[in-house]
Amino acid sequence: AAAIIDGKSIAEEITSRIACEVRRMKESTGKVPGLAVIIVGQRWDSQTYVRNKIKACEEAGIKSLMTELAGNCKEDEVVNALSRFNKDPTIHGILVQLPLPQHLDEERILNELSLEKDVDGFHPLNMGNLAMRGREPLFIPCTPKGCIELLIRSGVEIMGKKAVVIGRSNIVGLPTSLLLQRYHATVSIVHAFTKNPEQITCEADIVVTAAGVPNLVRGNWLKPGAIVIDVGTNPIEDSSCEHGYRLIGDVCFEEAVRVVSAITPVPGGVGPMTIAMLLSNTLDSAKRAYDFT
Ligand code: NAD
Repeated sequence: AAAIIDGKSIAEEITSRIACEVRRMKESTGKVPGLAVIIVGQRWDSQTYVRNKIKACEEAGIKSLMTELAGNCKEDEVVNALSRFNKDPTIHGILVQLPLPQHLDEERILNELSLEKDVDGFHPLNMGNLAMRGREPLFIPCTPKGCIELLIRSGVEIMGKKAVVIGRSNIVGLPTSLLLQRYHATVSIVHAFTKNPEQITCEADIVVTAAGVPNLVRGNWLKPGAIVIDVGTNPIEDSSCEHGYRLIGDVCFEEAVRVVSAITPVPGGVGPMTIAMLLSNTLDSAKRAYDFT
């Protein structure tokens, strides 16, 4: 049977190590890392993600600030909030919770973000540096970094392996494919226009799915013994659950466990790792700002 990769407990381990580092920093410099979150509008999923991020900051001793803007706010209001945090020396990480409402120009807004505080790693320069050989991005996007961390901690060798990433969004699929290449995997990208995605996917030793399509990846898409990291977080109706829905991944878990050698569950796989990597990036940023090692 497949090993279930326990993202929740791995994330807890990482978070408690970060909390130790934050304490050590405070004792020696009197300062703590600070994260600022900007959220626009009332999307329930974004609200939940932000709440979880702030809670995780508290657990790790990281200071957090939040600016909430109305869903119909002007672009300048977002940019003003950003510039305030850019200038605030007690803030080392800024994140703009995506997606933004349609009327806002995401690219312009992300461009305003100070490169040194781009803990999400979505600034075009950070993305460009991630893509280019010989360059080092200041920050690696949290979800892709969490996926790699899960692979490494599960003892998976990435170098030379065939990897398939399903999805090519700026947030997950694209940076994950770039990061896997940095670790010397041979990477194929499957997206909504790909013909015969199952044929490509079933050659992969490592499969990372970020399509947002429940049960897209069936057991017969997977090579026996493959490692599967399921980023998909899809709400499906279930009246027996507290809010009338529950979350499932992009992979048909019941079928996959019979074929693969290891797989992440949803929930409890990649989700907690994303938050742990955000804390890690924020700590790194604060260390850089205070020249603390
Ligand atoms: P997105 O909608 O921006 O991108 C989806 C990608 O999947 C696109 O590139 C599209 O071409 C591809 N795709 C769509 N349907 C497909 C199909 N039938 N076959 C192959 N490819 C297909 O989504 P996103 O923001 O990248 O998020 C993807 C999923 O990951 C969502 O379920 C989201 O909730 C989840 N997510 C989870 C975390 C986490 O921390 N666990 C973080 C971010 C996103």
